[in-house]
Amino acid sequence: VLVTVRGGAEAPTGTLAGRPLQFHAVPGGHQALAALPVELSPGELEVTVVPAGGAPLQSSLRVEDPKWRTRELKVAREFTEPSPELKARMDEDRAAFARAFAQPPGAPLFSGEFAWPRKAALTGRFGDRRTFNGQTQTQHYGLDIDGDEGDPIATANDGVVVMVRECFASGNTVVVHHGAGLYTAYFHLTEFRVQEGQRVARGEVVGTLGKTGRVTGAHLHWSVKVGELYVNPESLMRLRFF
Ligand SMILES: [Zn+2]
Repeated sequence: VLVTVRGGAEAPTGTLAGRPLQFHAVPGGHQALAALPVELSPGELEVTVVPAGGAPLQSSLRVEDPKWRTRELKVAREFTEPSPELKARMDEDRAAFARAFAQPPGAPLFSGEFAWPRKAALTGRFGDRRTFNGQTQTQHYGLDIDGDEGDPIATANDGVVVMVRECFASGNTVVVHHGAGLYTAYFHLTEFRVQEGQRVARGEVVGTLGKTGRVTGAHLHWSVKVGELYVNPESLMRLRFF
C-alpha cells in the first residue's frame, strides 16, 4: 500500500490498520509505503493521515479474499528431508538473510517507479500454496519469471546490494536494499554480476538467470520485502512512486 499526501512542506504522520506510517519527502509531497500480511482476513482497514498542523484525514481500504492457488511440485528428496549437514547449512542461510534484511531503513535510495527485473511469462504467482513431493507445504513468497540460463537479470530500482550468497534452497541469491526498508531479492542465479556493498541503479544487471537451489527448472524467483513482510511483486509494480 502506498499512501500519497500532496502539498505541505512538513511530513505528515498517520496509521494504517493501527500501525504507524513512515512518510518520506518526494517531489510535491510525501509518500509512505506499508505492507499487509498475507494472513489478513477480508474486511475494511482504517487509514488515518494527520497533516503537520492540520486535522486528521480518514479513509479506508477493503481487503478482498486473495484466493491463493494450490500447486503440486516435485523436487529432489534432500530438499524435503535434509540431512543434519544440510539443515545446518539452511540455518546459516537463514541467518545471512536475517542480517541482509536488518538494514537501518533510512530514506528511499530510489525515485520513480520499479522496473521488471526481466520481462517474460510468469510461471508462479505470489501466494501459491505448494506441496512438495506430496508432503511439505509452503506458501510461495515471490514471483517466478520464465527464462533461459544466462539471461540477464536487472535490479528493479536504485539501491545497495546487501547480500550476494550461494544458498542451499534459494541458490545463488542477490538482495538489494532500496532504502526505507524496501528490499528486492533475486534467486536461483547462475552468475553474480555485483558485490555486497555496491550501489546499483535501476536496470543494472545483478546476475544471470539460472537453476541453482531448490528448483524444477531455470527461472528467476523474484521476492519483494517491505519491513518484515514479503509482499506481492505485482503489487509493487502497480504503485505510482514519485
Ligand atoms: Zn519461486
